[in-house]
Amino acid sequence: LLSACSSGGQGAGSGAKPAAEDPNQAAVRELVVGLSLDTLLEERWKKDRDLFKAAVEKLGAKVDVQAANGDDAKQIAQAENMISKHVDVLVVVPHDAQVSAAIVAKAHQAGVKVISYDRLILNADVDLYVSFDNEKVGELQAEALVSKVPRGNYVLIEGADTDNNAHMFKRGQMKVLQPLVDRGDIQIVYDQFTKEWKPVNALANMKTALAANRDAIDAVIAANDGTAGGVVGALAERRLAGTTPVTGMDAELAAAQRIVEGTQTMTVYKPIRKLAETAAALAVQMAEGKKVSTDKTVFNKKIDVPAILLEPIAVNRTNIDATIIADGFHSREDVYRNV
Ligand code: BGC
Repeated sequence: LLSACSSGGQGAGSGAKPAAEDPNQAAVRELVVGLSLDTLLEERWKKDRDLFKAAVEKLGAKVDVQAANGDDAKQIAQAENMISKHVDVLVVVPHDAQVSAAIVAKAHQAGVKVISYDRLILNADVDLYVSFDNEKVGELQAEALVSKVPRGNYVLIEGADTDNNAHMFKRGQMKVLQPLVDRGDIQIVYDQFTKEWKPVNALANMKTALAANRDAIDAVIAANDGTAGGVVGALAERRLAGTTPVTGMDAELAAAQRIVEGTQTMTVYKPIRKLAETAAALAVQMAEGKKVSTDKTVFNKKIDVPAILLEPIAVNRTNIDATIIADGFHSREDVYRNV
């Protein structure tokens, strides 16, 4: 999947050695990895932060974490601050795919490499992109609905327009839906991005969709579990929760509970531990000045960015125990609390 041009053996698996036994550890002791997050509002980003921090520390380096609460100017200022404090590498979850290109330029001026984490920074010389196969996420969502509702009125409640992932999810969804639209089996009766990925905005959009179609909606793509929460809220007001299939993503606890209760059809589980540990290992290698190479690239409208894309997993009522619960992502007790 990936390789580093080194024989030091400091990949994710070897970091547990005590420093005294491993001379390579001494060299990384003082390295600092900057982590610039868009937000900590959604459940997943707290997990990303904690798992990433633990993984970097296990490799003997430190982490400086900043979160911008969806504020572009703040994210840039926080990144500049970390760069001027001499972080050895910068890992960025961009709020705005375009605006954050400025962060890459600033980092490079200071000789600091940048890893785009989960979300791709566009139009910039990004050094590495570590994420999931986001188009596949969209395909899994649409496939889950199409298998239940092969004909009918579809609503698309997409993610934030400013997030490149939202566009990747939609591309994957349309790969599955478009042939059925062309055949006349499926009608897309409402299609909106959700400002800032906020559940309240998804709820308002879903209410508009219901009103405009006199409740005649057969299936809803919600891009993630937060927006799915808003959608299910709007459906509940019309007594349609549990009747109209709804997708999601992130395997948030609330969504896992809705799945076993029957108000959400599926979610897409993206094993965050794997993402965080992969990014941590590569960040430390880059901080050490090692070259990192990947077998894939993703074009970001400027360059082909070396990329690692992990596999997302579709989760529904039937495989929830075998996936997110077996993985320890949530406990069985928590997931089944309300049923
Ligand atoms: C991530 C999702 C997340 C969303 C909102 C996307 O870029 O891939 O996992 O739900 O942002 O934060």
